[in-house]
Amino acid sequence: MADWSYIDHFRTLANPEPGDIITLESTLNNVLNTLDSNVIHIQAGYSKRWPRYLTDIEEDDDHSKIIDELRKHYWARERQQKKLTSIIQKREKILQKNCEHVWEKDCDSRDHRSHYDCKKCGAYR
Ligand SMILES: [Zn+2]
Repeated sequence: MADWSYIDHFRTLANPEPGDIITLESTLNNVLNTLDSNVIHIQAGYSKRWPRYLTDIEEDDDHSKIIDELRKHYWARERQQKKLTSIIQKREKILQKNCEHVWEKDCDSRDHRSHYDCKKCGAYR
């Protein structure tokens, strides 16, 4: 069961401290998890919510444990980056397929052949 008491407490704070805001976000994320927010968002066509990771480094940290956690973040983000690249490319393809191109000579072309860019959609020929 989600802990709404901290959220109620937070609402009474006139000047929340940084630690209060961090606790609020963590509490809200717990509430959202109990409501299957990620599943609901994915089913509605949205990406996953991204968890935060630790960026501060202290000498006496449990580095082995933190490295394992950071590697999980790293691989998840790499998968997400590939997925984002694919989604962007699909949308660019649709955009370029439906564009009434306005071709403009690409003067920066390195091989000195005639290349053209569409100044509306970025297509290249
Ligand atoms: Zn175009």
